[in-house]
Amino acid sequence: MPAPKPRPAVKSAASGKPAARPNKVADKLARLGLKTAIDLALHLPMRYEDETQVVPIAAASFMGGSHAQVEGVVTSCDVQFRPRRQLVVTIADDSGPLVMRFLNFYGSQTTQLAEGTRVRARGEVRHGFFGAEMVHPAYKVINEGAPLPTALTPVYPAGEGLSQVLLRKAIHDALAQLDWHDTLPDALCAALGLMPFEQAVRLLHNPPAEVDEHALEERSHPAWVRMKFDELLAQQLSLKRAQQARRNKGAAPLTRTAEISAELLAALPFQLTPAQQRVLTEIRADLHQPYPMQRLLQGDVGSGKTVVAALAAAQAIDSGYQAVLMAPTEILAEQHFHKIAAWLEPLGVPVAWLTGSLKKKQKQEALAKIESGHARLVIGTHALIQEGVQFEQLGLVVVDEQHRFGVGQRLALRNKGLADVAADVAPADSPDGMGDIATVPHQLMMSATPIPRTLAMTYYADLEVSVIDQLPPGRTPIVTRVVDQNRREEVIARVHAAAQEGRQAYWVCPLIEESEALQLQTATDTHAALQAALPDLRVGLVHGRLKPAEKQMVMEAFIRGETHVLVATTVIEVGVDVPNASLMVIEHAERFGLSQLHQLRGRVGRGAAASVCLLLYQSPLGPVARQRLMTMRETTDGFEIARRDLEIRGPGEFLGARQSGQALLRFADLETDQWLVEKARDTAHMLLQNDPATVTRHLARWLGEKEEFLKV
Ligand code: ADP
Ligand code: MG
Repeated sequence: MPAPKPRPAVKSAASGKPAARPNKVADKLARLGLKTAIDLALHLPMRYEDETQVVPIAAASFMGGSHAQVEGVVTSCDVQFRPRRQLVVTIADDSGPLVMRFLNFYGSQTTQLAEGTRVRARGEVRHGFFGAEMVHPAYKVINEGAPLPTALTPVYPAGEGLSQVLLRKAIHDALAQLDWHDTLPDALCAALGLMPFEQAVRLLHNPPAEVDEHALEERSHPAWVRMKFDELLAQQLSLKRAQQARRNKGAAPLTRTAEISAELLAALPFQLTPAQQRVLTEIRADLHQPYPMQRLLQGDVGSGKTVVAALAAAQAIDSGYQAVLMAPTEILAEQHFHKIAAWLEPLGVPVAWLTGSLKKKQKQEALAKIESGHARLVIGTHALIQEGVQFEQLGLVVVDEQHRFGVGQRLALRNKGLADVAADVAPADSPDGMGDIATVPHQLMMSATPIPRTLAMTYYADLEVSVIDQLPPGRTPIVTRVVDQNRREEVIARVHAAAQEGRQAYWVCPLIEESEALQLQTATDTHAALQAALPDLRVGLVHGRLKPAEKQMVMEAFIRGETHVLVATTVIEVGVDVPNASLMVIEHAERFGLSQLHQLRGRVGRGAAASVCLLLYQSPLGPVARQRLMTMRETTDGFEIARRDLEIRGPGEFLGARQSGQALLRFADLETDQWLVEKARDTAHMLLQNDPATVTRHLARWLGEKEEFLKV
């Protein structure tokens, strides 16, 4: 394909408005998000085709199986009907013949490819029954002596109804009109060893024949590096700006750690671990600030995050503010309520409880206590708390197991939800003279899912991170065994033995993603089967369809030790804390993801008793499932598990494509381009401090209207 001829400039494209092409094309381009000249210029090829050379047919057929371009004159052109209707065209050059075979074709092709026509054909050469052939080659009709392109031919991501030819024309036009200024100062490019923007973009659209094709393919070519760097820089700048915007919001400094904090610490039946102590110090310092904390508290399952949350809440309460703790599930919210209320109520701190299981009247009472400020701490599920609860003076929001919340919910929490929740904190005419500066509560997010460093630097770039990297003392490590499902009888015997020793067991039912009804059925069946197999034990059942009050009863019976075995669906996945449970059985473990298995396993090993986790699997195991189960057997370290998870799945899936921020990165890859992420982060930091004009220019080019998305 020869490079398209330059067309008259379309004025509006350069000024950032849609190009004045025939509307249909413009519409199709717009559907790909290609509205302006810069959009088109940054629509970079996925790959290239080398049409710069023609090889003799004999040489191409000798290369068999690889791609080649040949040129020849049509010697025959027939529609054949066996084994099915197809167009068979033979071409020949001085070295020999080659068959082009088309299984789908237009009638017009028979005339287009009439005998004597000269064509260039490109495709994979195979050895067919009649010698060398290409099935569905790309071809074009040419005149003898037509020049070969001197650049590799780009292949662009295209949408429906958009041909490569059309895209190439549109991009070619855009390149002719683009305002080519480099958003980065020359000195900076030189210091970072970056190729100039214009040179990089032009090269990627039109690589000279002698370019290092491998580097282009791998996207390691300096031109690609420049694109990736620019993209990552835009992402970092945007995230850092969001962080600054947050700092420009006000928050009530929570400076007192007096009675409640001290009494709670004194009343705890244990000493904080050094790691808990350290993160608490970090959180306390944040809460002192007059702008809202956004801190992620990471700690492996069982590392003791809840008590840290309670101590943060105590600081808010000591400072005269209310605090709220949200959990993703009823069971977890309930458990937090029991545990934390037991800590705080003896100290005279009223704790309110908001959940779906409350009767209307109880709920109204709770809401009234929250609004009047009587309740100092509110615990519940996020759904209820976000429903527009009025606070008297909210100072701190704690979100437990934040990785369980969807992206939408997280965005709502971090932006709108927070503002809504916070609307009552400081009215616009507040007497403290803060005028119309919106004040929002401090926010602490907790998660047991460790975030790999690159992701933390991108998606979470505007969060501070604290890590509890140590488990409370006295825990014996959990022993994990991978057991074939057909040894179920032995497993049941093991459950029986554990119960006889006064310990308790979870039995997690298989995950059935296709059907909740089926999953429920399985749980019910498993419960019946286990109860029948263990007539002298009490077997409980908890699943997502139980009414909240029923769930509560089942959980309480298990916590009190009245049931020996708790058959459960994944509703128990997060947070559930029953230290006496020391045996975890997971059926069809091969169906669960790594982080889910880790979370489930984390329900045991919480007391002093040696705990065991049995992963039952159905053979044969696929390679990925095998890798996961081996990982579980080899390590109980959440960070290591997350690292392997990332290895097995890649960052896109690690947090869900959108959550990782990867989806917003078109060119860079968080895994392979980690070194660039770090460079981009440092550069962003430097530019924000010293060069606001460059920041604005760069963001305008790379993000335009997309900036909002990055904050999710
Ligand atoms: P997670 O970090 O998974 O939320 P939890 O907060 O549920 O962990 O704590 C796990 C268990 O460890 C709880 O029973 C909790 O009371 C206990 N615990 C927390 N901190 C300590 C500590 N410093 N010493 C001993 N036990 C602790
Ligand atoms: Mg927890």
